[in-house]
Amino acid sequence: MAFATTHRSTLALSRQVNKNALKSLTATRQLSSDDKKHATPTSFATKCASLYHPSAGANRGLAPPIYFGSTYLLDDADHGARLHDKKEAAYTDQDGFVYSRWGSPTNEACAKQIGALEGVDQRGGTLLFGSGMSGITSALMSALKAGDHAVFPYTVYGGTHEFIKEFAIHWGIEVDFIDAAGENGPEAYKAALRENTKVVYCETPANPTCRITDLKGVGRVVDEVYGTREENPNRPWVMVDGTFATPYHQRALDIPGVDVSIQSCTKYLGGHSDILAGSVSSKSPEFCHGIAKVQKLITAPLNPMDSYLLMRGIRTLDVRMQRHGENALQVAKMLDEHPLVASTFYPGLENHPDNTGGDDCLVAQAFRSGRDSPEDASFMPQTYGGMIAFIVAGEGDLALERAKKVCEGLRVVNLAVSLGSVESLVEHPASMTHAMIPREDRLAGGLDDGLIRISVGIERASDLVQDLKQSLDRVMEEERAERAA
Ligand SMILES: *Cc1c(COP(=O)(O)O)cnc(C)c1O
Repeated sequence: MAFATTHRSTLALSRQVNKNALKSLTATRQLSSDDKKHATPTSFATKCASLYHPSAGANRGLAPPIYFGSTYLLDDADHGARLHDKKEAAYTDQDGFVYSRWGSPTNEACAKQIGALEGVDQRGGTLLFGSGMSGITSALMSALKAGDHAVFPYTVYGGTHEFIKEFAIHWGIEVDFIDAAGENGPEAYKAALRENTKVVYCETPANPTCRITDLKGVGRVVDEVYGTREENPNRPWVMVDGTFATPYHQRALDIPGVDVSIQSCTKYLGGHSDILAGSVSSKSPEFCHGIAKVQKLITAPLNPMDSYLLMRGIRTLDVRMQRHGENALQVAKMLDEHPLVASTFYPGLENHPDNTGGDDCLVAQAFRSGRDSPEDASFMPQTYGGMIAFIVAGEGDLALERAKKVCEGLRVVNLAVSLGSVESLVEHPASMTHAMIPREDRLAGGLDDGLIRISVGIERASDLVQDLKQSLDRVMEEERAERAA
């Protein structure tokens, strides 16, 4: 099935969900016709406390229903026993659900949709969490125990870094950080691998400079050192946080040697700045089983309402991502030529360090642009996502002040952290998200005083280009006026 045909897959999903609806409806009817088991309420108080199900015809709604509920009606005691006996499988079977901390219908429908986008087959699965961080920490907790070793890139999401520093190392886990960017990345990972390495963690494209990690290369060096997973079940898990690219561009699980794909669905998959959610997908039943245990006992599955909103967001992912990419290229080109901008980082620009040209360069590998096969390139345009970083010209405090003014002078783009939504967002790490980090550490991590990050939305491109241009122009004019005074 083509990646873009959401209609048929949506129908398939609603049919799957509705099978469950029918089952529970039939169950209710059978039970109520059998007064030995379950009586029709006659008293006001019992009517109040009872659950009433819609008639069987209700399942003809095109959109899947939202199933709230912590618990499920059981046929008999044996049915309950069977469900409790079941190991943590990725999805439920015909026997149904038992308790929502172990899985629930709306969550499962959404998980299957993301699983389809990630290319997860029958053997594996996708699990949904209440935030991207909850997915990341669950994946790490399921794979690491005291005495194990893990390798992370320097440019890793702030929350992931904080979890390592505040928790993982205190739990007796050994951690190395490496420079994962560009063509030397795989060798840097290889040099850090040890006998007790259990997690090889990647985040690509990286935040905020969109440097790319060579995932094929990482899979290959891990195979070289430990053998493939078939040869060596103790091989480390190779995990990829691919939030910036989404499965529209990057299908990490298609790459040999990559085991786990993580998304903060708060961002592009949700796409509307209205939910927090995270997904973790893997083709390995063993991995899925382990992380399902963490979800059941430590974290928690994504709730029904947000699962529904996430499904609703995903239905337009394909068209949104294309528009994000088309808009961002125009914005990046303007920025790159503006006199107040010292440098622009955007994978679609020829000056991006990983855009070395040709179909094999790292940028080309990371950005598939919704295509299912190379032939799709004839009608699906190449785009490079919606994330841009740029550095305002000037040294130290001058750049810091200018960057703040540029952000505050915007009238279409919104000043807010986060990314991936339909509306454009801008943030200034040095005064906002990273202000608490000492200046030297911030600079060493590549976060210049004048660096601004934009998440380009799906507004009209010329509105965005104009807005950024007028704000940059105004800062220059004000300085000129001050000098003249
Ligand atoms: C936002 C983000 C996260 C964390 O996701 P939350 O949903 O905010 O918990 C992790 N990784 C990346 C790359 C992100 O952008």
